[in-house]
Amino acid sequence: MSESAGEGFAAVRVVERLRVVHSMIAAAQAEEVELMTQLYRLRREQQLQLGVGALYAGEDAATEIGIALKVSQRSADGLIALGLGLDNRYSGTREAFADGRIDLPRVRAISETLANASEDLVAELESRIVAYAEKAEPQRVRRTLRRWLLEADPAGQAARRKSAEADRYVKVTAADDGTALLDGVLPAAGGQALYERLREMATTQCCGNDPRITNQRRADALVALADGRGRLTCECGRADCPRTDEGEPSPTARKALVQVGVSMETLAGLQDNPALLAGLGAIDADLARQIARHARFDVITDPAARPPAPAARPTDSELRYRPAARAARRVRALDGGCRAPGCGVPPAGTDLDHQDRFDHADPENGGRTVESNLGCRCRRHHRLKTLADNGANGWQVVHHPDRKVEWRTPSGGSVITSPEGAKFLFPALAVPPVTAAGVPDAEPIRPLIDPGPVVNAMTELVHVYCTPGQRRAVRSHVGTSRVTM
Ligand SMILES: [Zn+2]
Ligand SMILES: [Zn+2]
Repeated sequence: MSESAGEGFAAVRVVERLRVVHSMIAAAQAEEVELMTQLYRLRREQQLQLGVGALYAGEDAATEIGIALKVSQRSADGLIALGLGLDNRYSGTREAFADGRIDLPRVRAISETLANASEDLVAELESRIVAYAEKAEPQRVRRTLRRWLLEADPAGQAARRKSAEADRYVKVTAADDGTALLDGVLPAAGGQALYERLREMATTQCCGNDPRITNQRRADALVALADGRGRLTCECGRADCPRTDEGEPSPTARKALVQVGVSMETLAGLQDNPALLAGLGAIDADLARQIARHARFDVITDPAARPPAPAARPTDSELRYRPAARAARRVRALDGGCRAPGCGVPPAGTDLDHQDRFDHADPENGGRTVESNLGCRCRRHHRLKTLADNGANGWQVVHHPDRKVEWRTPSGGSVITSPEGAKFLFPALAVPPVTAAGVPDAEPIRPLIDPGPVVNAMTELVHVYCTPGQRRAVRSHVGTSRVTM
């Protein structure tokens, strides 16, 4: 392609302008990071003075930013940590960022690569790498800086590695269309061992007629390691598959802790409303029915449809601090996770927190242990609520009817969250079932409640909503053994 002189001139101007805009965005982003860090310091200072522990003081600044900017708490956490690093360790990088000479990805590349380096090494290498970063993309910045670190201090590498290994983790988050994203940092040897094991399982435990590609078999191998089967099952479908019977008993999956909230109508195939896979998010009706086929059930009735409780003396269970198991399951099913905005902690990882505080000394005078007074909160947001009750952080956490929770920040922001689980258990909108052609239906959706033998890898508790009429019908069909009422 050749350009005319006019076109060439126009393109040059566009590229020039692009450089300017990119640099302006970087400078603005530097200010944003700086302001977030400022807010964190302010909140931390206030809370330390009020006696909040040093480990947690200021941690709710990220939640406050999340509410103000509609960003996730996690991204605010990350930017605050970056800002603190720039202030405390990387002044040269901070300056270049503020000037718009390097952008956020390159700032991250520098601070992450230097994270485990000594102060002396930072002093030695920082200005050099900043100058280099002005002319190189983030990937090259990381690579070059790693090499410089090894050249400047080969003996310190062991200490840096140890320090990096301390940040190991494994995380599973929701991805699109009913899949999950696995992400983590392992010590290099452990990571290699895992990968080799998956590769070995994928290549030795299935015959050449297995329809899956290697990537898919490796992924299935990881699940097989987790669910207790320990080995892959070849999917060639041949009775004489050379890889099936090698003297081992046929593997059975352990029940995994998977929780799904789904409406009765959807489970019965009368509707195709989405379901909630706890901790991961919405999944389609068909996948929910597949998981439900082998699950244990817990019927959750609509709290709005319950008759109002008579204002009599509180029952024993209402005066006990710990909710009964069944009430706890209900609250977790309805809330579907931590009730704080922008928080993704799944229900199993939350505390059931009393909205009106329980009085251990005199239970009759405190908040009751009843569904309407209980809400799911992760540890961090449980602390936020406790500090709010003690007037130590300026927040207000207010419960409204229908399990709505209002979070008022000390700087005047406010957001109301509604119980995520209930939206799936009691959908406001009925999605008509997808019919006939195009619907994969390997197994017929016969069992409505009776799950049959447990063979599925993804099996556990399915929360089902049914109307009293439907429940009676189901009972008369299959008995009550599997339905917790
Ligand atoms: Zn085979
Ligand atoms: Zn939370």
